[in-house]
Amino acid sequence: MGFKSDIEIAQEAKITHIKEIAAKLGLTEDDIEYYGKYKAKVDYNLLKRDNGTKPGKLILTTAINPTPAGEGKTTTAIGVADALSKLGKNTVVALREPSLGPVFGVKGGAAGGGYAQVVPMEDINLHFTGDLHAMTAANNLLAAMIDNHIYQGNKLNIDPRRVTWRRCIDMNDRQLRFVVDGLGGKANGSPREDGFDITVASEIMAIFCLANNITDLKDRLSKIVIGYTYAGEPVTAGQLNAHGAMAALLKDALKPNLVQTLEGTPAFVHGGPFANIAHGCNSVIATKMAMHFGDYVVTEAGFGADLGAEKFLDIKCRMAGLKPDAVVIVATVRALKYNGGVPKAELNEENLEALEKGLPNLLKHVENITKIYKLPAVVALNRFPTDTEAELKLVSDKCKELGVNVTLSEVWAKGGEGGIEVAKEVLRLIDEAENNFTYSYELDLSIKEKIKAVAQKVYGADDVDFTAGASKQIAELEKNGFKNVPVCIAKTQYSLTDDQTKLGRPTGFKITVREVTISAGAGFAVAVTGQIMKMPGLPKLPAAERIDVNENGVISGLF
Ligand code: ADP
Ligand code: MG
Repeated sequence: MGFKSDIEIAQEAKITHIKEIAAKLGLTEDDIEYYGKYKAKVDYNLLKRDNGTKPGKLILTTAINPTPAGEGKTTTAIGVADALSKLGKNTVVALREPSLGPVFGVKGGAAGGGYAQVVPMEDINLHFTGDLHAMTAANNLLAAMIDNHIYQGNKLNIDPRRVTWRRCIDMNDRQLRFVVDGLGGKANGSPREDGFDITVASEIMAIFCLANNITDLKDRLSKIVIGYTYAGEPVTAGQLNAHGAMAALLKDALKPNLVQTLEGTPAFVHGGPFANIAHGCNSVIATKMAMHFGDYVVTEAGFGADLGAEKFLDIKCRMAGLKPDAVVIVATVRALKYNGGVPKAELNEENLEALEKGLPNLLKHVENITKIYKLPAVVALNRFPTDTEAELKLVSDKCKELGVNVTLSEVWAKGGEGGIEVAKEVLRLIDEAENNFTYSYELDLSIKEKIKAVAQKVYGADDVDFTAGASKQIAELEKNGFKNVPVCIAKTQYSLTDDQTKLGRPTGFKITVREVTISAGAGFAVAVTGQIMKMPGLPKLPAAERIDVNENGVISGLF
């Protein structure tokens, strides 16, 4: 249709030296560490500097249950931040940093899209400032120390069959999901079944994103449960004395990365955990840094609101003492049609009937944010070139009937200008709307009760079934002192249920919890429903096949 690709738009953009972006936040050259001309790290110790301002307002961007392509949360978050900047507000956007897995797999980059992007997009999508490599190294240092401990006499009595710590790499590589290592005889380690997760699914990433400072990081790393002894007692990274060296590997990574949007709004892009087995949002340090230096901070939580926003609110906000001031719920006509049962390949055709059928999905998410979490919310209808006028009108009419404010977001096509309507409503909500932020459960409930609270309130389930194995694991965790932790539920992002084929707003269903593990360093219990992939594979036609670089170092094919 003659649209420019994301990378073409990003490469044509006029990009400002990062010291000027830093200056917008009142940061001098002394305050930042350059990673080239357009990226910088900002020391977390600056959080302690009193700059005489109150913390900025926090705006969460979330979405309805998505299609496999993503619904434009990142794009909308960036565009709304640019719109707020246009309205004269000192605004910062805080986002996750992309993983190479999706970049080379199906989804492509994760630096926004169209005229709402963060730049330099090639760097952000590829190695950026090396944070994920540092996390990979820290993760694998611990793995090496575990196997070395076993090899060197196994003083801690670690049961090699019960080592739960896995190796990681930031790549979609199904070949590595299950491996047997330590082969080759006595001199070469002791054979055991092992495997790799993608770095963004590792507990290191979750810990990194929840840590408040180096001391907290080290403390969390020391609490990691790496496996169990022959007697069934948990063994920690602290018992292996690994946490100091791991933290040393992470000390620079822990400093938030400062970049800019296409319109020059400062952006912190830092940390990027999965939104199923981990909590799905950028680092606490980056969010706090953004709030420290900005008056308005727009951030994003992964997947739909049942996963990303739930964890952002129940885990991150609780642990970090944050309270959002407004929530933007992104919906697209194509995702509503998808929720109305239209297959992926037919989403570009007008289909009012399916659209109407998919709408209850949006309404459930709106209800969750406003009635359960008691936060002010606005729906941002992210306009795609294929949306028809009739479809846009139907969504806004139906929502109005139900008392939900819908604003049109055209940031993909127009940048900040296209987000003014959303931004104005956000400002109005912050000034005028009631905000009685409440979690969906309290920590003193049992693990089962907490899982039930999320399932019943947020997903709309009747009840939760626990397999015998999961019940046994929960009993063991509670016995080991992990009762008062939040729960991080791993579930498909496509449905409010644990069955990805049940779209829209299902009722009369139960979810089944098959496995419950502890991420003791992150500080939450992970409850797994269905099949959750911690090491994705590449699709038949990986995005990687289209990516290239020319003689001048100019990259093409990223999207
Ligand atoms: P999410 O953060 O929800 O996963 P993204 O913002 O990353 O979604 O967007 C996913 C993809 O969709 C990106 O490639 C982006 O360029 C594209 N996209 C987002 N909004 C629009 C839009 N309004 N029109 C066309 N493409 C869009
Ligand atoms: Mg995103």
